[in-house]
This record gives sequence, C-alpha cells and structure tokens, in this order.
Amino acid sequence: MLPPQEQWCHQIAVTSACWPKPACSNCTRLLGHESKRYYMTLDQFETILKVAAPFLHHSPPERGLKQNRGNPAMRPRKKVLGIFGGEPLMHPKFPELVDLMCKYVPKKHRGLWTSFDWAEGESKVYGPYRPHVERLLGENPGGNVFDDSDGGYLNWNMHEESQSCHHSPVLVAINDVEKDEKKKWDTIEKCWVQTEWSAAYALDYNLEPKFYFCEVASSFDRVFNLGTGLPVEEGVWSHHLWFERDDKGILRPKGPYKRQIQSTCGRCGCSLKLQGRRDREFTDDISPSNLVALKGSSPMVRKGQYVEHDGKTDSNKKSPEPWEYLKEDNREHQRKNFERSKKLKSWITPNSRGVSGGN
Ligand code: SF4
Ligand code: SF4
Repeated sequence: MLPPQEQWCHQIAVTSACWPKPACSNCTRLLGHESKRYYMTLDQFETILKVAAPFLHHSPPERGLKQNRGNPAMRPRKKVLGIFGGEPLMHPKFPELVDLMCKYVPKKHRGLWTSFDWAEGESKVYGPYRPHVERLLGENPGGNVFDDSDGGYLNWNMHEESQSCHHSPVLVAINDVEKDEKKKWDTIEKCWVQTEWSAAYALDYNLEPKFYFCEVASSFDRVFNLGTGLPVEEGVWSHHLWFERDDKGILRPKGPYKRQIQSTCGRCGCSLKLQGRRDREFTDDISPSNLVALKGSSPMVRKGQYVEHDGKTDSNKKSPEPWEYLKEDNREHQRKNFERSKKLKSWITPNSRGVSGGN
C-alpha cells in the first residue's frame, strides 16, 4: 500500500446515483447494495476541495504514481483530483461543481470519470453536458494520464457491449478465502487497487463527508455503516501509512488509517486479484460473510443478482493483470474503448445515458 500522499489520484464521490439498476457487476462503489442514493451538497464539495487541493502540490505536480505496476520504464502519471460517483453527470448541480473545481484546482490536474455521453447528451436539469465538461477539462478532452498539456484527464467508459470491461470481485472477502492470517495480511499489504488507484472523499452512511485511504474502503464503510471515515480537515490525506510485523510475524497496519484498514480490507476481495466478471452481467460475486451481512438491506441481493462464492481455493482463479479494465495509461485496448465511446450512438435516447433527470 501507499500513503495517500504518494498516490497519483484522489477522488471525490459527488453522488452515488448511477444509470445501471442496481449496478454493474462488482462495482467498486458497491452501488448495488445501497438502499438510498446521495448527492453531495455544494458546501460539502467546497469543504472537501479546500482540504484536497494541496495534495496536488505536495510533490512536483508531474510526479504522480512512480510505481506504475513495477515497471520503472513507464513515465510517472500526472497528479489528478477527480470527480466520480456513481455517475457525476447525474448530479443536478454538476455545473456548480465544475465552477468550484475551476476555482480550486488547476485545469491540468482536474479529472472526470464518466460513463455518459458527455459529448452529445444532456441533463433534464441543466442542459447539455459538453460545455461544462469542456470548462472542466478543456476542449476535446483526452484520456491520457501521461499528457503534459494543460488539459484535464477524462476517464470515459460507456460500458457498452463492444467495450470489454471486467471487474474483479469486491465482495469476495479475503477473510473467507485466506484462513492463514499471515498470508492474508501479506496479500492485503500488497493490494494493487490501493497502490494503483486512489484515496477518496465520500459521504458516509450518515451523509457526512469523510476521507478514506482507499476508494473501495469508502464503499465498505458506507454500505456496512462502519464509521471509520476521517473528518475532512487540513492534511487528512498527508498521514503516513505503514505496517509492522507482530510477534507472530503477522503484518499489522499502523498510523491514522489503521482502523479503516482493519475494518475494511478483510471484507474486501480486491487484493486477491480474482478473475473479473463482465460489467454488463449486472451480477456481483459475494462470499458467505458478506452475504449474511447484506441480506435484508441490499437491493442487488434481494433481486437475486449475485453469485455466491464459496471461498474455496479452486474457485479462486486469479487474473494476472486485473487492472486492465482501468484506463490510467495508454494500453491499446483501453485506447480503443475510448475511441469506440466516441462513435457509439445507441445510448443517445431518452431515459438512457444521453439524457439524465438527475436521479
Ligand atoms: S458505471 Fe461505474 S459506478 Fe456506475 S454502477 Fe457501473 S461500475 Fe459502478
Ligand atoms: S483490500 Fe480493498 S479496502 Fe483494502 S486497500 Fe485493497 S481495495 Fe482497499
């Protein structure tokens, strides 16, 4: 794991509303298991921006993540403060969110994660998306995180049939799969998601803005009402994060993010690098301990849109590069995904992702 200050990207989850009902397979936001959607208020968003923006200048701005999947030959990514969700374009005050981003974050460090037709679609509430996206990121925004230009970073995946996108199981708890405590924490400590991806600001179960060392941890905290979010206050992203072995040789998390790590990582499957499921199956893989906890509250479980994972080793097929679905670099098939998004027209229809009512 990395201390959040060394990550290339921090995210602000401005809403938990999204278009798939209830959610794509194995959504890292666990949106299929939320009973109520949220929309961050402008006051909450501005408070977060004031605290979050200094992260961009903590190290030279061009020095984002240097690890880059263990390949020192890859260029460092630029540092990004992103808006994501859910689907951020469904926030009814998206134009005002953009105003605030423009006030606090230099353009080249602004990010947007969307699966909507930002180029031609429109909101029923605030009209066409495009002028606001271009205000945020510049004209004709691209998806290259190594880009040195002044433009922001757009992560755009329509999750359409032609766009290969698989999500590793999030709700297959490593607690259910790896019974050897030492191996379990050795695996968690190397979690690729936290290293390659992002810390997050999100609303917790009680709709309070909080900070998390890992985006996925924020999802667990909200859905399971764990109460581990840190208050959004100056320097919350700048603490150290480290592990030490106890007298049995088991790695134990230390520092201010310790409670988040202890409460969330055992319930999570990301560090296992399990084989992903196609996003458009709209089905989650869930292991027994998480299933018990979600029964009764989760819309996705209630609708039967899940496959119970038995936690056995022979069903734990690994994916050598689970990050392939992400678009943080210029890998060829992700570049093609982006190009295909530009050509897709099927979603520009009422009630699809071309038109949003803000809910
Ligand atoms: S589009 Fe993204 S945030 Fe929305 S449900 Fe799918 S995976 Fe989750
Ligand atoms: S195991 Fe899950 S919650 Fe823990 S760091 Fe990895 S992705 Fe985040």
